[in-house]
Amino acid sequence: MKISNKKIWFVTGSQDLYGDDVLRQVAEDAGKMVDELNAKAGLPLEIVWKPTVRSSEEILNTCVGANSAADCVGIITWMHTFSPAKMWIGGLKVLAKPLLHLHTQFNREIPWGEIDMDFMNLNQSAHGDREFGHIVSRMRLGVKVAAGYWQDRDVQDRMAVWMRVANAWDDARDMKVARFGDNMNNVAVTDGDKVEAELRLGYHVDYYPIGDLAAYVEKVTEARIRDMLAVYDKEYLLAPNAREGGKDRKSVVEAARTEVAMRAFLTERKIKAITTNFDALHGLHQLPGLACQRLMADGYGFGGEGDWKTAALLRTMKVMALGLKGGTSFMEDYTYHMKQGKMSALQAHMLEVCPSIAESKPKLEVHPLGIGGKADPARLVFNTPPGPGVAATVVDMGNRFRMIVNEVEVISTESPLPKLPVAQALWIPQPDLQTSAHAWILAGGTHHTGFSMALTPEYFEDYAEIAGIEYLPIDKRTTIRDFKRDIRVNEVYYMLKKQ
Ligand code: MN
Repeated sequence: MKISNKKIWFVTGSQDLYGDDVLRQVAEDAGKMVDELNAKAGLPLEIVWKPTVRSSEEILNTCVGANSAADCVGIITWMHTFSPAKMWIGGLKVLAKPLLHLHTQFNREIPWGEIDMDFMNLNQSAHGDREFGHIVSRMRLGVKVAAGYWQDRDVQDRMAVWMRVANAWDDARDMKVARFGDNMNNVAVTDGDKVEAELRLGYHVDYYPIGDLAAYVEKVTEARIRDMLAVYDKEYLLAPNAREGGKDRKSVVEAARTEVAMRAFLTERKIKAITTNFDALHGLHQLPGLACQRLMADGYGFGGEGDWKTAALLRTMKVMALGLKGGTSFMEDYTYHMKQGKMSALQAHMLEVCPSIAESKPKLEVHPLGIGGKADPARLVFNTPPGPGVAATVVDMGNRFRMIVNEVEVISTESPLPKLPVAQALWIPQPDLQTSAHAWILAGGTHHTGFSMALTPEYFEDYAEIAGIEYLPIDKRTTIRDFKRDIRVNEVYYMLKKQ
């Protein structure tokens, strides 16, 4: 099952020195590898074999071709033989697609009894790939290296992760983020430089007055509302007050009306991620919580209170995670459990948590919302299953974007939370709550995150490499002393780095 029709090009490097027989063998071996990887590795995208490149001209043409091929989202390079790397300068200088350097060789084992100099000259990626690696490093290019035997699971897994990231990177080339209302007044961490974000991360952020959406809400027909309510009745467990005839049914009807309107609005404009703001709801009946929850479940990015960076990140995470087991949601650090030995953080939001992370069938409930001054909103309420996950954010440091990624372990709550009217997850961030929170605060991380039980830190590391942004992991190995040093070193690095 491929996650999209996009392709990855497989480019084998060589040179003219070896003669036709060797080059024929190089092309044949590369073709076999591509065929077998496509057939057996379970990779998320199809790999397309490209003719062996033997000169600067061929390399430049291949890289220009990859740039202009709309369905190519990245290239894999591999040096079956030696390929003098000055030949790669021109091509790599213009290459605008993500790069994975596969460091492997066609044969797994040395044929001890047969090996001669012909064999050595044909199978010399051990030094050909080092020559290629030198020029990539000398040019300071972002690259993912997958080193090891190409038929082994670990190498294929590294390739698969990168392919998913390359596909999500491509998705962001035409990602439009719609902000209904501005950022929440005075909030610093959710704001930032939208011009720089478009230059560096690709996505585009627009503002829409909430009145534009309200105009769509007014036009929704009763028939469309009935259809939407039927979906709610089928997919969720409705609280008595939310059912047909219940005293708060009207709030569910209005939620359905808003959802129909939002879907029409977003589809017409090819928008992939949205933000809302509880302070900008003129013309709406209530904060569109249920609609945002259900849009997230369909792959839209979402950020609360105008948080466009998290909305865009969440969309990218949704694309990375396509078809993988485990959900992906907008999340917020809400309140702590500081009991000795069990320190954990309760995650939730006012309403908007994605039901893709629900442990069981979500409950649809209507409760008052303390802020915003609107009618009581409908929302899905559920728990999140125990297990590992990642919480990620991107912040604007003024001279660069910084991605912070924390490994977390979702745990069960000590007892049920019958009075909590929102979806939640309780987690222990790695290496422990105190160190994680300390590091996250030193890094200037948001209270909002993109959270996923489908992804691992490797996805974010690959993304940061492609985007050329700072990457700060917080995991089992994190110590505050090292983390502080990393931040200080990065400060100098990004000041000096050629953009
Ligand atoms: Mn929030």
